[in-house]
Amino acid sequence: MITLALSKGRIFDETLPLLESAGIRPLENPETSRKLIIGTTRADLRLVIVRASDTPTYVRYGAADLGIAGKDVLLESGSEGLYQPLDLNIAACRMVVASKSDFDYAGAVQRGARLRVATKYVQIAREHFGAKGVHVDLIKLYGSMELAPLVGLAEVIVDLVSSGNTLRANDLKVVEEIQPVSSRLIINQAALKLKHEQLQPLVNAFDAAVKLRG
Ligand code: ADP
Ligand code: MG
Repeated sequence: MITLALSKGRIFDETLPLLESAGIRPLENPETSRKLIIGTTRADLRLVIVRASDTPTYVRYGAADLGIAGKDVLLESGSEGLYQPLDLNIAACRMVVASKSDFDYAGAVQRGARLRVATKYVQIAREHFGAKGVHVDLIKLYGSMELAPLVGLAEVIVDLVSSGNTLRANDLKVVEEIQPVSSRLIINQAALKLKHEQLQPLVNAFDAAVKLRG
């Protein structure tokens, strides 16, 4: 049995065509089913539905043989014990610094001001501002970071954006790009050796599907 860890939402939706091109379809829709383990049309492949930030944990411990996780999640959790053969180019977005539209970020950085940064991505933020030599107080949030600058919790946020619609709707602007983010295939290193004959064809099928999409 091969176990693939996926999160609901974007990653699941954008993984479906990749599975499809390998001739694999889930037997249930996780958005409507309450099941956490979902079979597929391939008898020896099952899906486990996990929170996006939990995917590397399931794969690292071998509870899932492989998984699909955003680069953001991998940077936060570290990639120890994980083999990352493929950028699947799905769930693409950007990790950015954003502030209220009237905040002078460049000026604050130039003055050497201490910045309060609200984010779910504490490691990425620490790295980014550390490399720039900007002193920050990191404030860990679990949701809706966009609210923080509006109510004075922080001057800036570090968050993922794709369209920028949420930022615009809340009178916020991108002040700095940190890095592009997309989802990666991750594989448990031991499983890759022990189940190589089952896993490698799946990796190859994903690889071919990604190349075909360009
Ligand atoms: P959760 O709400 O469980 O924290 P999300 O469903 O918001 O997770 O995001 C899951 C993954 O999708 C993220 O880890 C990231 O890689 C990707 N992602 C998040 N936000 C966006 C976005 N705006 N556009 C595209 N992909 C995104
Ligand atoms: Mg979300």
